Amino acid sequence: MNLNVRGLPLSATLSINEKSVELQRQGKEVFRLGLGQSPFPVPQPVVDELKANAFQKDYLPVMGLRELRGAVAEYHRKFHGIDYTGSDVLIGPGSKELMFILLLVYYGDLVIPTPSWVSYAPQAQITGRHIHWLPTSLANGLRLTPEELEKLCRQDPARPRVIILNYPNNPTGCTYKMEELKAIARVARKYRAILLSDEIYGELHHLGQHVSIARFYPEGTIISGGLSKWCGAGGWRLGTFLFPKSLYWLRDAMAAVASETYTSTSAPIQYAAVRAFKHGAEIERYLMQCRRILRVMGRYIAKQLRKTGIAVPDPEGGFYLFINFNPFREQLIKRGIDTSEKLCTSLLEETGVAILPGQAFGRPGEEFSARLAYVDFDGARALSAAEQTPASKHLDSAFLKLYAPKIVAATDRICRWVSVL
Ligand code: GLU
Repeated sequence: MNLNVRGLPLSATLSINEKSVELQRQGKEVFRLGLGQSPFPVPQPVVDELKANAFQKDYLPVMGLRELRGAVAEYHRKFHGIDYTGSDVLIGPGSKELMFILLLVYYGDLVIPTPSWVSYAPQAQITGRHIHWLPTSLANGLRLTPEELEKLCRQDPARPRVIILNYPNNPTGCTYKMEELKAIARVARKYRAILLSDEIYGELHHLGQHVSIARFYPEGTIISGGLSKWCGAGGWRLGTFLFPKSLYWLRDAMAAVASETYTSTSAPIQYAAVRAFKHGAEIERYLMQCRRILRVMGRYIAKQLRKTGIAVPDPEGGFYLFINFNPFREQLIKRGIDTSEKLCTSLLEETGVAILPGQAFGRPGEEFSARLAYVDFDGARALSAAEQTPASKHLDSAFLKLYAPKIVAATDRICRWVSVL
């Protein structure tokens, strides 16, 4: 076996999902806050388009369906004000796969903040790239700072690097302010680093105010996105990369690898994705309601957890919270719980609540941190109830109790668990 792969376990997000399904199958009550899967249905016009295109059976161009590449470029022009054309777009079977291929074809080091999504580092390990984890602090919401980036780049200014910036962030739920983005872009430009801006949760900014960093460093930024999160279509596996002209050499190298591996992305899914990227009033309404629900839910959970002493930054987008049980260190250690891994195992066994240990996101094992994905609710039901609640009226905890009872119960169980530690 390739040494880079030896001992590599199943990715944490997928293994917690399989473990949760297995526990449920055994009849146990499980609150599935492990895997970050959108609870919302795929918008109806997009589903209709998929049905209408079920007959599409031919291989499509390696870089993607021409019409889809155009729609993705147009979408970014409209919402981010960046002048892309269809030629800048590469379609793949999930942005995860595209990231892997990028790390494969690009020779530079991978630079990521801690915490970061579970798969960036293993992908770099598989492809044999060096990984630099940059420290962050709870005080600034675990965000990457330009100072830390500068400190690293200054040590070896000419070293080729790819920095992954992900926001709204998985696992923290935080995002970046315009000034912060500008400052990070300045450092990346100064050291000619490639910035891979993972904006898969961009549409799920809770206030609909996502800004792409590509605006401030267009020549060095690749924007990564896809249908999985905002369109509720993780299982459809469709991802997008947008390249500036100066990085076409990477686009072409990635397409060559694609042509020798997955060939092209599923044809019916690409046809349906055209409809998704065209947006329009119905999809805008859908997104507005998704954001509204996620915002009230994230803030509710954060508030309840904070009352017990658990530290948690306020969520600004997506559906994650990165929670910290360090204030309970003494009690946890007394019970033989000395890592975030053990913490999550005990929590699952004793309460049925499945969350992922901070360790899986590159945090030190002995830090009692964990990611909670607030996705275990019936998204279709919650959506139609939200639609019937006037936009002027706040969704409240009564709404959550009715339409997301498992989320409320899981929050309650975590609170009770720490109170009797
Ligand atoms: N991105 C999601 C998560 O972090 C799930 C998909 C995956 O990891 O492949 O939970």
